[in-house]
Amino acid sequence: MNNKVIVIGTGFGGLGAAARLAARGFEVELFEKRDKPGGRGYLYEIEGFKFDGGPTVITAPFMFDDIFELAGKKRQDYVEFVPCDPFYRIFDHQGRVFNYNNDPEFIYSQIQQWSPEDVDGYQRFIKTTRDIFKKGFVELADKPFLHLGDMLRIIPELVQLQSYKFVYTYVSQFVKDDFLRRCFSFHPLLVGGNPFVTTSIYAMIHYLEREWGVYYAMGGTGALVQAMVRLIEELGGRFRYDAQVEEILVEGRRATGVRLADGSIHQADHVISNGDVAWTNMNLLPAKSRGVRNSDRRWNQFTRYSMSLFVIYFGTKRRYTDGKLAHHNIILGERYKELLTDIFRRKVLAEDFSLYLHMPTFTDPTMAPEGHEAFYVLSPVPHLGSGIDWTVMAKPYRDAIMQFLEDNYLPDLQANIVAEHRIDPLHFQNTLLSHMGSAFSLEPILTQSAWFRPHNRSEDFDNLYFVGAGTHPGAGLPGVLSSSIIAEQLITGDIR
Ligand SMILES: Cc1cc2nc3c(=O)[nH]c(=O)nc-3n(C[C@H](O)[C@H](O)[C@H](O)COP(=O)(O)OP(=O)(O)OC[C@H]3O[C@@H](n4cnc5c(N)ncnc54)[C@H](O)[C@@H]3O)c2cc1C
Repeated sequence: MNNKVIVIGTGFGGLGAAARLAARGFEVELFEKRDKPGGRGYLYEIEGFKFDGGPTVITAPFMFDDIFELAGKKRQDYVEFVPCDPFYRIFDHQGRVFNYNNDPEFIYSQIQQWSPEDVDGYQRFIKTTRDIFKKGFVELADKPFLHLGDMLRIIPELVQLQSYKFVYTYVSQFVKDDFLRRCFSFHPLLVGGNPFVTTSIYAMIHYLEREWGVYYAMGGTGALVQAMVRLIEELGGRFRYDAQVEEILVEGRRATGVRLADGSIHQADHVISNGDVAWTNMNLLPAKSRGVRNSDRRWNQFTRYSMSLFVIYFGTKRRYTDGKLAHHNIILGERYKELLTDIFRRKVLAEDFSLYLHMPTFTDPTMAPEGHEAFYVLSPVPHLGSGIDWTVMAKPYRDAIMQFLEDNYLPDLQANIVAEHRIDPLHFQNTLLSHMGSAFSLEPILTQSAWFRPHNRSEDFDNLYFVGAGTHPGAGLPGVLSSSIIAEQLITGDIR
């Protein structure tokens, strides 16, 4: 049996593929450039605080359960998920709040407070997004789109579901109040898209949250990463850290293994790259063996990348659990469309911002020393195509965000900070090796979705596979775990 698989990278896509293949009897070895697993879900441990580097919102939890079940285990024995309520607390620019969860009556009562006439429109919105969700997620997310025919077959249904409309426009058909439109249209930002140009297929994220809930992994996302690592090791998989792959070795149409930065060569029957798909093609594979679809020209000139992120992880020596904040907080600025245009199209660093403020100690005090609070605040910013010099701009940008939080949400914040770390677009480029410093790889626009998105099997090498945010179906934990199902099934021959 040709069963040795090398996985490059230990993001959730790589971990998902490795666990699935190890459970199916493959010999799996993972090579990770950093000193710890998790990719964007890297865990920073500073002064007794635990800060999850990236994903904090767990949706579609059954996708993790399925992985453990495939190995004959129970996810609950490895890591605990607890529901978040509310899912999000969303603040407008004046500090007024809108909460939502998956209780329809609660959502209607919240809408009622903002705009009574929109209750009816919201109900119609939910009905139509159910159809989009069934098609876009349940039926198609874990199916490979390797052939143009796969795409052509679904076009009539995409037209019927109005996928040619953008998320914000789609929501606006049903909901009149501008703030509520923002509350039900921000979801593409969670996967790297601008709600004003992302296909309305992504309106189904709100439905997905309602259907399966929003969860938090106790001990943080880092505990979920550790659970997957333990499972893979129990199944015989091996992890190599500080092990950057510098070349995928090829012979004709086959990938034969990898060469690491230390010069060592490792052979495999199948290679899966969980590294950034543009970076992998341009830096790890020989240009002369790549066709037009994977040429440098395609990645440099004909691909649009998602925005980047500026994230500050900070711990305070006092608590802020006074009821104002929830676990997941979204703080919207006054400008919405214009700010998004600054980030995605004009690529300028605006003076205002919209923020996601994560307070894991709301649910899980073990993330900080006793009596302390752990946070991260995230601001979407342009990717490196902006030309912004982050070595200069990071400090003043950080100061502006912290001052804003101190003035509006976290009194005396700066006097109480006892631990801090931050990342900016240079981190995504230099540490995570993501082209353009993009936080979510390719932007999820219609012309970069399904068959148009990088495929999960290479067109140039028969036994080379791609999983992760830049590949089909896209970013976010449910997306990258779907890509790992496709890679598993292509390798085992369950699908072709
Ligand atoms: C700040 C932030 C918050 C987010 N919040 C959420 C959320 O709440 N919920 C959600 O569902 N999604 C969220 N996302 C999106 C989600 O985290 C990502 O889409 C997903 O984790 C990406 O996983 P991936 O499989 O693409 O791998 P990545 O996480 O990108 O990991 C790839 C790994 O490959 C390694 N690597 C790359 N090149 C090489 C090489 N040559 N050799 C060896 N190793 C290499 C990298 O070091 C990295 O560890 C968030 C993203 C960010 C950045």
